[in-house]
Amino acid sequence: MLFATLAIIKIGFGYGFELLFLILMSTDVFLMDDNIFIKMLVIFFEAAIFFRLLITKKFVWNFDPAVIDFYILNFLAYFFSVNVVNYSSLSFFEIKNKFENMKLVEEKERYKKIAEYDILTGLVRKFYMEQQLDEAIDDYNCKRLDNLVLIFSDIDDFKNINDTYGHPNGDIVLARVGAIFKRNFRKDDIICRWGGEEFLILMKNVRKGFAYNIIDKLREKVSKQNFSFDDVNVSITMTFGVCAVYDSKITYEELIKTADDLLYEGKHSGKNKVVYKEI
Ligand code: GH3
Ligand code: MG
Ligand code: MG
Repeated sequence: MLFATLAIIKIGFGYGFELLFLILMSTDVFLMDDNIFIKMLVIFFEAAIFFRLLITKKFVWNFDPAVIDFYILNFLAYFFSVNVVNYSSLSFFEIKNKFENMKLVEEKERYKKIAEYDILTGLVRKFYMEQQLDEAIDDYNCKRLDNLVLIFSDIDDFKNINDTYGHPNGDIVLARVGAIFKRNFRKDDIICRWGGEEFLILMKNVRKGFAYNIIDKLREKVSKQNFSFDDVNVSITMTFGVCAVYDSKITYEELIKTADDLLYEGKHSGKNKVVYKEI
């Protein structure tokens, strides 16, 4: 653009530099499409330069007026070829960018899923549960939530399952426990594989006293379930510590510790039971 402008200033119109100027100006229509205001400003500025040159420079015709049609054709040929190439390459890059963005979004979703979900059980992982717990406790303490129930659960003597049937079969048991949990809670309950053979469940809006019955039924279901693999039938039991919060303000640490202590109490008083506490 600068070269075309300087050439026009130096030798005037009629040598083809004005064509170069106009064609380059036309390409601005397709460029810088992010900001229409800047685009219009640039085009206006270029047009102003062009007209300023036009009124101050003598229009020199250094060729036969008989070939004016070639002059016009020359302009049109350059105008269309430059802009068609420009436009199609831009569309190509736009499409390519869109595809790349889609791939990035998919990739992000995939990593998010890996970060949030446990592969073996399909339940959410500790990191996700911690965030949800934090939010729920905040909501409860600020009275946006009436109550919350945190359940700590752990498979009894799971080491024996691994030792007797092997680690891969232990994994099958874990996956099936995860499936039982998923089937037996509501859509909004958050079920987490906290680690190893320990599962945490966060429930909201549970009527007073109801959580014990819900969890005891689940405990019974798990204990009656046949886990079959390699021609053997195995059954397991689980212990649950249930802390239901209805009346007092609570911190994250207090809630975790209370539910964990209740689970511990269950483990040390015979296992296969639900230890419930309302605070
Ligand atoms: P308790 O009733 O006191 O809970 O006894 P336990 O044997 O279940 O508890 P302990 O903590 O002694 O053993 C837990 C076992 O869980 C030990 C570990 O090998 C097993 N485990 C942890 N994660 C996995 C896993 O991803 N797959 C399998 N198969 N086993 C696991
Ligand atoms: Mg255990
Ligand atoms: Mg354990």
